[in-house]
Amino acid sequence: MSCFLIASVHSQSIVSEAVSIIPQPAHLTVEKGSFRLDKNTALVLTDPGDQASANFFNDYLKEVYGFSLKVTNKSGKNFISLSTRKFFKAPDNEEHYTLEGNATSMKLEGDSYAGTFRGVQTLIQLLPVTKSATLHLPLVKVDDQPVYKYRGLHLDVGRHFFDVAFVKKYINYIALHKLNYFHWHLTEDQGWRIEIKRYPELTRVGAYRDGTIIGHNPGTGNDHIRYGGFYTQDEIRDVVAYAAARHIEVIPEIEMPGHASAALASYPYLGCTGGPYQVKQAWGVFKDVYCAGNDSVFSFLENVLDEVLPLFPSQYIHIGGDECPKDSWKACPKCQKRIQDNHLKDEHELQSYFVQRIEKYINSKGKKIIGWDEILEGGLAPNATVMSWRGEKGGIEAAKQNHEVIMTPGSYLYFDHSQTKKEDSLHIGGYLPIQKVYAYSPRPAELTDAEQQKIIGAQANVWTEYMANPAKVEYMVFPRLAALSEILWSPAASRDWNNFAQRLPTQLKRYDLWNVNYSRAFFTDPKNAL
Ligand SMILES: [Zn+2]
Repeated sequence: MSCFLIASVHSQSIVSEAVSIIPQPAHLTVEKGSFRLDKNTALVLTDPGDQASANFFNDYLKEVYGFSLKVTNKSGKNFISLSTRKFFKAPDNEEHYTLEGNATSMKLEGDSYAGTFRGVQTLIQLLPVTKSATLHLPLVKVDDQPVYKYRGLHLDVGRHFFDVAFVKKYINYIALHKLNYFHWHLTEDQGWRIEIKRYPELTRVGAYRDGTIIGHNPGTGNDHIRYGGFYTQDEIRDVVAYAAARHIEVIPEIEMPGHASAALASYPYLGCTGGPYQVKQAWGVFKDVYCAGNDSVFSFLENVLDEVLPLFPSQYIHIGGDECPKDSWKACPKCQKRIQDNHLKDEHELQSYFVQRIEKYINSKGKKIIGWDEILEGGLAPNATVMSWRGEKGGIEAAKQNHEVIMTPGSYLYFDHSQTKKEDSLHIGGYLPIQKVYAYSPRPAELTDAEQQKIIGAQANVWTEYMANPAKVEYMVFPRLAALSEILWSPAASRDWNNFAQRLPTQLKRYDLWNVNYSRAFFTDPKNAL
């Protein structure tokens, strides 16, 4: 790793509005002086692979400050250069980058195109938070890379649907916080959101519900308004390409065997009783699940996966596996025959049979599955990555079994919980102030060093039962996303709540520049933590 640097972070000395970077870089030194940027500054690019980084920077300048820079391959009197180092073998940490400058030039260099792109986010955070035609960037030396290789944010588009324009905005939020995974939860009891050409009923029937409950589940009534929407495969491709240009991997989630009401309503033969079934209008966990004893269910899912997998270059596909009541399996002759024929102990082992059969199919296509921690019950599929959501217990168990783990415990990383102690809008329950997010560390102390390495990162989840529009999603995500980005990117030694809290007001001013809706609980109730 190339290192022109220098001292580690001494946090107190670097906090100012001028240099207020989130997530805190691994190494940052503030120097005297500044670099002047205006519309005559050149953006120097020598490698077309960095074009997407240049575009992102220019788009940001244009949107926030009203001008963009001329991209050129020659340096001049005043310029910013973006470049990517060439290696004979893969760099140690491909998201590593360095940034340095003087009064007339700034030089950003990544160890890969992704590293350069992450560095652009730091460059953006050196820009002033007031709009002007001449921008003064403080001089710094940065040598930076993330601690965790998986840094994710999730969005549930099943309970409420969000259009492509908002999904792209959301991906930009992910990019601006140096995260690298977008987990797109595409199927639910309340709506199937992805076009499958072989099964048109999934979106003709399954993408719409005939009403939605009013208020907190089970509700005080029903609005009886038809609600829904879905993404065409072309739209999915467009979103995936948009994310890829930001070095963000999109992981689709196709839920099974539970949370399947919308699929069953579309094709009732997929359930144990043959229906009829309904696209759900309330929230919660439902007993309408895929029949595990019927081979045509597996043919259906394999055909669905045959269309889904090619849309997503990701090595992962999330298959859910959570909250699957076993009632219908207990009453179903086909499911009971499957248990007998395969010498399974009970319905938990039947679920394990289901997940392992799907895993085998997905592995045969060269991809890996992720499942919620319920997939541990009845025996874990051999190559599965586990997302631990019911606390850390499932993640710890999976790591001990030598499986990769992504931590997403509800009490620390569920952004559908309230940010304020006193409820200020309808939400699912729970209290998760930004201080508590910041206090989270994804690698549990009780694991050995080797086991801790199986924890590849963490993710915040955004379940949208009580988020009916983009403004509400933003209100729940921000500013907790800033805390998430720092616990996943910055070295543990440089993490300090008081220092973060001093940088946060500048981050909120950036959110103002982006016209983002965010919670002000941090200001109004600063002692609400923990
Ligand atoms: Zn069945």
